Amino acid sequence: MSDRSAMIIAMPDMYSDLVIANRRGGSFDVSSSESYRMTTCGSCGPTQAGVVGYSAGNKNYWLRCSNCGRGIVEVSGKTYPESRPLSEPLGLPPAEQDAWSEVRDCLSVGASTAAVMICRKILLHLAVGAGLPAKDEKDRAPSFVAAVTHLRSEGLITPKMVAWVDRIKDVGNEANHELQPIMPELALDVAQFTEQLLRLTYEMDALMARGPEPGDGEGAQQGVVRGSETWHS
Ligand SMILES: [Zn+2]
Repeated sequence: MSDRSAMIIAMPDMYSDLVIANRRGGSFDVSSSESYRMTTCGSCGPTQAGVVGYSAGNKNYWLRCSNCGRGIVEVSGKTYPESRPLSEPLGLPPAEQDAWSEVRDCLSVGASTAAVMICRKILLHLAVGAGLPAKDEKDRAPSFVAAVTHLRSEGLITPKMVAWVDRIKDVGNEANHELQPIMPELALDVAQFTEQLLRLTYEMDALMARGPEPGDGEGAQQGVVRGSETWHS
């Protein structure tokens, strides 16, 4: 089966919900070679995309990812939104999914301080999800230390991960109270820890509930999950 045939089968509604301006220089048929293009989706990575339109002169492209359905724009050979680092663990509840998506968005545009601050909040959120009361006896949100202690007691943070947690705590504090920039490498490090914590918390249950599928196993064990994002039309 050709790539083109695979796309047609996988994306029967690729164009059905699109509204197109009627004043244009030309058009192409969805069965023509002009209607698809290899590109890089900011969510999925390298992928095939349907061409919604393009400018004949300077070759700007408006595309739609055939995997997640999100929009992609190519301008002068550069693709937007840019590829997001890391991946999305399976089984994330909506709140965690949104927060983790925001972390990846921040990393992709170099917003390192914002990425780290959200990572820190995700860790607090996970602790509450793992049974830590959302408010203490003084009606305050739990401290970072209380959250870490709770996650350790629940086995979600192993002894070998403690040094990594401390790094998130320190970096997070720095982001909140000082104006020193956080280097992208450090933000990525913090995000990688957060991703692993999310994976430990949610992905195993999701995989168990889903059962084995062809292609699972090796990729999941290595923490490489692609195409797990939902197509929101
Ligand atoms: Zn995509």
